[in-house]
Amino acid sequence: MVYEAKPFDPITVNPRDKRRVAYFYDADVGNYNYGAGHPMKPHRIRMTHSLIMNYGLYKKMEIYRAKPATKQEMCQFHTDEYIDFLSRVTPDNLDMFKKESVKFNVGDDTPVFDGVYEYSSISGGGSMEGAARLNRGKCDVAINYAGGLHHAKKSEASGFCYLNDIVLGIIELLRYHPRVLYIDIDVHHGDGVEEAFYTTDRVMTCSFHKYGEFFPGTGELRDIGVGKGKHYAVNVPLRDGIDDATYKSVFEPVISKIMEWYQPSAVVLQCGGDSLSGDRLGCFNLSIRGHANCVNYVKSFGIPMMVVGGGGYTMRNVARTWCFETGLLNNVILDPELPYNDYYEYYGPDYKLDVRPSNMFNVNSPEYLDKILQSVFTNLERTKYAPSVQLNSVPKDPEDLGDVEEDEQEAKDTKGGSQYARDQIVEPNNEFY
Ligand code: MN
Repeated sequence: MVYEAKPFDPITVNPRDKRRVAYFYDADVGNYNYGAGHPMKPHRIRMTHSLIMNYGLYKKMEIYRAKPATKQEMCQFHTDEYIDFLSRVTPDNLDMFKKESVKFNVGDDTPVFDGVYEYSSISGGGSMEGAARLNRGKCDVAINYAGGLHHAKKSEASGFCYLNDIVLGIIELLRYHPRVLYIDIDVHHGDGVEEAFYTTDRVMTCSFHKYGEFFPGTGELRDIGVGKGKHYAVNVPLRDGIDDATYKSVFEPVISKIMEWYQPSAVVLQCGGDSLSGDRLGCFNLSIRGHANCVNYVKSFGIPMMVVGGGGYTMRNVARTWCFETGLLNNVILDPELPYNDYYEYYGPDYKLDVRPSNMFNVNSPEYLDKILQSVFTNLERTKYAPSVQLNSVPKDPEDLGDVEEDEQEAKDTKGGSQYARDQIVEPNNEFY
């Protein structure tokens, strides 16, 4: 048996770990509204922010408001005609765009709401600027909870996502990094990101998700990439009710093997909160610690890291979890007692920083998980000899990314992903003083 049920140990951090964290937040994001009764509520990002601030995490990290992504930036992945449509369509003129609405897949689930373009540009701006800061070695961790919209396609909206901020961020990382690892712990398959990089070995995508009569229907075990990208897409299809210990027993061995064999120079972690127990749309049984353990585990490799949001439809639990994870990224285990904050009443009756599991049945048997791990490892072995890219001059930054003077000063090593740069800033977990 390759699968081994591990105990779920308490989460620990190293307070001496001095990683620089850049956190992106735009105060406008919470005002956008998908419409009455729609489960996706951007307000949860504002709730998360209020918790983060009231826990005092602003003292630990740098807080930025990113410039919204421009049309030109969006079109590094999306088609001109799709972005043009997004920028022009409104609920009021929607009937003039009947044909386009079908073509670009906006409607009931992924509706045209007031400011949908601006909302998307905020989400994209945070991920692109986060990636740019990582590239220049100006931070070690970049956080953008307004991002993580993994279902958006090149020319199509899907699953509450319009702009794929993750793909845009990864494209930015690829300007400096030979290999980027994308990890997705949302309960839904990360189909938009997988599709974008399905034929390349420069990005490995790895999605853990519910599979079987569940949106978006993709992400089978046997989907592993094509052409040069064969073996560089990893899918871990799971069943209902997976708990903390079981998730950890699958997540950690898979990520550890990928780190060992693929050796990414940067990692993007999509932290969809719909894999938590009690999510309005999800069906997993993770507690706050089971979810956060993934963040802590990925961080432990000391690789430049981008953390984005994603799904998550029980707002109070999403806010609790992303706040707790922001603490971990800053090497703090936050007090279980919630501080007073703008949305305090949402957290009753306990007012605790906790998301508890339920007694739901875990359908993932050891035999089923063993079959998955065996297949994933067999495929991964084919990537054992990490591919490299030819030496090329680093393409010039687009002018609107600015900061020319600072660049000159740091020109001696602007490649945040180099071993040298990492050695300068990262304290390995095995170094004790
Ligand atoms: Mn989701």
